[in-house]
Amino acid sequence: MISDTDNPMVYSVIFLKSEIYKKMKTETRFDSFNFDKEIIEALEKKGFEFCSEIQEKSIPTIMQTNKDILGLAQTGTGKTAAFGLPLIQKIQTGNRVPKAIVLAPTRELAIQVCDEMQSYTGKKRLKLMPVYGGTPITNHIKDLKAGCDIVVGTPGRVMDLIKRGALKLAEIDYFVLDEADEMLNMGFIDDIETILASANDYKRVFLYSATMPEGIKKITKKYMGEHETIEIAKKKFNSELIKQVYYKLRYSEKFDALAKIIDVEDFFYGIVFCKTRNDVDEVAQFLRKMKYEADAIHGDIAQNKREKILQKFRDQKLHILVATDVAARGIDVSNLSHVVNFSIPQELETYVHRIGRTGRAGNSGTAITFIGPKEEWVVRKLERITNNSTIERGTLPTVADLAQSNSNRIEKEVEAIMSTGAHKKFQEMTTSLIAKYGPEGAVSALLHKMLHKEEVKNPAHERMERGNFGGGRDDRGSRGGRDSRDRDSRGRNDRFGGRDDRGSRGGRDSRDRFSRDGDRRDSRDRFGGRDDRRSRDGGGKPQLSGDDMRLFIAKGTHDGYKNREVVSYIEEKAGKIRSKDVKACGAFSFVTVSKSEGEKILKAFKNEKSSNGRAVIEQAQ
Ligand code: AMP
Repeated sequence: MISDTDNPMVYSVIFLKSEIYKKMKTETRFDSFNFDKEIIEALEKKGFEFCSEIQEKSIPTIMQTNKDILGLAQTGTGKTAAFGLPLIQKIQTGNRVPKAIVLAPTRELAIQVCDEMQSYTGKKRLKLMPVYGGTPITNHIKDLKAGCDIVVGTPGRVMDLIKRGALKLAEIDYFVLDEADEMLNMGFIDDIETILASANDYKRVFLYSATMPEGIKKITKKYMGEHETIEIAKKKFNSELIKQVYYKLRYSEKFDALAKIIDVEDFFYGIVFCKTRNDVDEVAQFLRKMKYEADAIHGDIAQNKREKILQKFRDQKLHILVATDVAARGIDVSNLSHVVNFSIPQELETYVHRIGRTGRAGNSGTAITFIGPKEEWVVRKLERITNNSTIERGTLPTVADLAQSNSNRIEKEVEAIMSTGAHKKFQEMTTSLIAKYGPEGAVSALLHKMLHKEEVKNPAHERMERGNFGGGRDDRGSRGGRDSRDRDSRGRNDRFGGRDDRGSRGGRDSRDRFSRDGDRRDSRDRFGGRDDRRSRDGGGKPQLSGDDMRLFIAKGTHDGYKNREVVSYIEEKAGKIRSKDVKACGAFSFVTVSKSEGEKILKAFKNEKSSNGRAVIEQAQ
């Protein structure tokens, strides 16, 4: 049941959703549950007819039993309706304090979940409220005072509201943790535990997570009663339509490589995934400096700006989007031609989500992954988690490749022009040129004129020929003439099309600016207005006793260091230690030791510096 629409964008989103649902829908119809008329009407309006698997299993458990739920399901499987519909059915309207709370990792997700749930309420006058950081807390306090039935929020803002006494969970009947593993990844474990502990004992807990890390097991044991485990088999990864390629590069080499890859491709409509928002900014800045039309989204970019960027991207007016995983979660675009993993994801499982945005609906796609010089093992692991698919090692395009790609493109363009007959208006001029210079002479002179322009327009090509990276020459003023936008209509990348030719490329070698200085510069996380837990501040730190010291180690799972390796790495230099807590994350780790051992370690590593000049081991603040 797809509603009619004239808007092609809306149509394509609906089409993609229907693609997903073809795969995961069940035979169970929503009208087989005893939902109120208002809800059934709302679902009909949304075009929901058959349940997805997670809905088929969650809805009866919530409606007909008193059990908690541990739901293991990936994003996009219909979790919101799985818990949202029964909550909306069961909760009475007009509550003074909320009867249900849903925690979601980011403000995008909180808004998305709240809007989605609101859309199920139809004429039932339930008051749902999204609460998240980055907006004045006073508004939330005021709205909560006016009464509310269901709160959907990020852990940071929910904590703040509880602390201020504005949000009370004493009468909560339902506590939902959505994308729980993602919240843990973001370092929200302490907040979540505090929030859970501040609620009453009789609440039911519904925890949904794509993976089952230790932290989730702990929450399940500590805060959940008798529960039903609902596991939805992971969608089989189908690698047939996705070509997977990896490049082994140092961080500073990745920028130029990215430019070359975009240049050599016939069509590029893709997301470049980075680990931190600093990286996102650097990559987007670089691409823009190189005159690609690229934009960035991450948590530090204002909500309304982010929405505008996303809309531009969905409409394919913007062809390159640089994003963090978290910011990209709410993007409902999956018909990309390319996905670039500028850095490998913190959780390798995320690779599957990332690259699943390409190679859809019968179209082929390319997934490109940049790995560091010592990260070959990651490729093997990625192959395993993608059903033993093959990830080939790629070689970067050469000058000849770029020239060939230009030539192919021009041939295609000539073909397209000939098919429309648009060239006929130049008949007279053509006859006169041929009469004067002969056919070969006339065409090759015109090609020279055109290709010469193309070379200038192709920064990666130009840089290779000049053997530098940025140069300082501004060729753009002298060209004039053709409107570069004319190729847009044939689906070319904006990079070659609607770009702004005005600016100079600047004189500085861009490698200066794009050298690696890592995640650690990123110190504020404005998701929920909280500190970035992944920075050197102690990453979701446990309570330390006065005799403990927590250390930040600039090595992590991405460097091949799991907990045990982190300890061995320290012991190699500092001698045997008795670690009280070790946590290896992506690019860094935390270790808690006694103060005296901490001092010993810091002394032993005094002269050990990372490539960015910072100490490899520091005391976490
Ligand atoms: P979720 O996993 O809850 O974020 O849902 C992903 C998308 O699928 C949302 O846009 C929902 O509106 C849509 N959706 C969820 N359940 C169904 C269903 N049973 N039939 C059709 N669309 C659905």
